[in-house]
Amino acid sequence: MEKLSYDAVVLGAGLSGLMAAHEIGKEGFKVAIISKVFPTRSHSSSAEGGIAAYIPGNSDPNDNPDYMTYDTVKGGDYLVDQDAAELLSMKSGDIATVMERWGTLFNRQPDGRIAIRYFGGQTYPRTRFVGDKTGMALLHTIYERTSGLDVDFYSEWFALDLIRDQERVRGVIAMQMKNMTPVFFEARAIVMATGGMGMLYRHSTNSYINTGDGYAMALRAGVALKDPEFVQFHPTALYPSDILISEAARGEGAVLINNKGERFMKRYAPNKLDLAPRDIASRSILTEVKEGRGFPGGFVGLDLTHLGPDYIKERLALAYEAAKSFSGIDATVEPIPVRPAQHYYMGGIDVDITGTNHDLRGLFAAGEAACVSVHGANRLGSNSLLETLVFGRETGRTVADYLKSTSKPSSSVENIELEKMLDEAYSFVKSESGVHFGEVQNKLRDIMWEKVGVFREEKGMQEAVKEVKELRQQVTKMYVNDKSRVYNTEFFNALELRNMMDLAIVISSSALNRKESRGAHYRLDYTQRDDENWLKHTISYLRGNTVEISYKPVKMTKWKPEPRVY
Ligand SMILES: Cc1cc2nc3c(=O)[nH]c(=O)nc-3n(C[C@H](O)[C@H](O)[C@H](O)COP(=O)(O)OP(=O)(O)OC[C@H]3O[C@@H](n4cnc5c(N)ncnc54)[C@H](O)[C@@H]3O)c2cc1C
Repeated sequence: MEKLSYDAVVLGAGLSGLMAAHEIGKEGFKVAIISKVFPTRSHSSSAEGGIAAYIPGNSDPNDNPDYMTYDTVKGGDYLVDQDAAELLSMKSGDIATVMERWGTLFNRQPDGRIAIRYFGGQTYPRTRFVGDKTGMALLHTIYERTSGLDVDFYSEWFALDLIRDQERVRGVIAMQMKNMTPVFFEARAIVMATGGMGMLYRHSTNSYINTGDGYAMALRAGVALKDPEFVQFHPTALYPSDILISEAARGEGAVLINNKGERFMKRYAPNKLDLAPRDIASRSILTEVKEGRGFPGGFVGLDLTHLGPDYIKERLALAYEAAKSFSGIDATVEPIPVRPAQHYYMGGIDVDITGTNHDLRGLFAAGEAACVSVHGANRLGSNSLLETLVFGRETGRTVADYLKSTSKPSSSVENIELEKMLDEAYSFVKSESGVHFGEVQNKLRDIMWEKVGVFREEKGMQEAVKEVKELRQQVTKMYVNDKSRVYNTEFFNALELRNMMDLAIVISSSALNRKESRGAHYRLDYTQRDDENWLKHTISYLRGNTVEISYKPVKMTKWKPEPRVY
């Protein structure tokens, strides 16, 4: 197998990967960025509503970084590592300013300062935005910036597996998607910036490329995921396509209404109403539907009409266009049909606040692929874009320091070992008969949605674990119809499914294990948060067909757990 040597390889070219690569590359190290899509097509480009930032002199006069940390900690139902949340808040103003100077054209206040809007769970408004296409603007800025450095982009390359020895990471096998040529990228440091995993769920706002590849690669390399049971569901996905209608809509004043025209959030979050955090709003919508106050098909209305057509088209252009094109609704005159859908993954590769993983030397992670843990049991809206940049930068700097103090391993990786890894990946798609990946994928997405979704309980999750295990046996005998070697997307879809299966078993087993309700993990059989027994992080390893679970303490600085009411 051909071999290419780098100091560091960054897997993923979204905001976190590009920011990390930027920091490593600018120190003069040889960096490769591998991405299965062209960088600016990464899911970061779909981010709509904004990026949270406390900017001194340009924020609500009553706001300060402590309020921001408090909101994040409470929003995450106290499972947040408070040192991480403090860092996120403290560095938020700086990173937003850096992005502005690099070229992101944020919306303005009349006096020329960067505009702000409310997002869910915020005591004071602090979300900065570029209309409702913020992610696109940020991603283009950082892509341009990183392209100016001497870094090598491998776009439309699919990373299959990490290569490690007893002690440290040695590189990654990736395949050029155009012609299926495998290459071993040898590196002293690998940054996992592979983004989320929405395709595990029947309903998701995520791109089709979000198949959790990075989590699965880490698990197969013997690395733990932290808090894998915490999956975020966004309350307002467009019915029936599941395209996201950004929280910015409610931030700008849109309200949720049921089939009686009633503003029902007053029942569930009397103070914050429609701007309650996402887990609470999602459960409220599904409760309305279940109790007969939804619309036929299972959705509620998101009413923007009182904002006026000009304001809607300026501030919420994407929501307006999506509702019109995909549901035939004119949001300036009637409510948009919405329902919850999977949106974000709080769990991820276990790293500390420097981005370092402690299971495998030389492995780092940032962005949605990582669990720092800054979002705890539920992420606040607009904190993820912020996390990708703040922790992408921290991680990049950590890697640069690591490279300065680490020498190359003395022996090289044997070709036999590489071929073995490749054969193992191939075995999932080589059968002539058996099951087709599409069939398994459909079943998996239904199981996860129905049994490990917004509402969970013992019996359903037990069934999910059993069913996922059975499906996982089946995927060892998958076939693909397309036998060509040119842009064989079916082949790569099947490899993605293998990754989804590895992750699904970890999510469902860890969810079954946590016997309480906290943030996005809501159990009908244990409806209360139980700090005495469960104020701790889940640490899950995948060993064959079983999930091995241990725990880590939550880092507390000054915020003591209190009831989470809004
Ligand atoms: C519709 C939508 C709207 C959102 N809006 C907001 C918002 O307004 N504010 C906010 O804070 N957050 C928002 N989020 C969340 C936020 O956008 C994401 O969490 C964040 O952008 C993730 O960035 P990332 O760098 O971690 O990963 P991504 O941007 O998802 O990038 C992942 C990268 O990994 C690569 N990759 C993955 N697997 C492989 C593989 N096997 N081989 C090679 N490459 C691979 C991909 O090609 C891609 O380049 C939104 C999310 C969605 C889905």
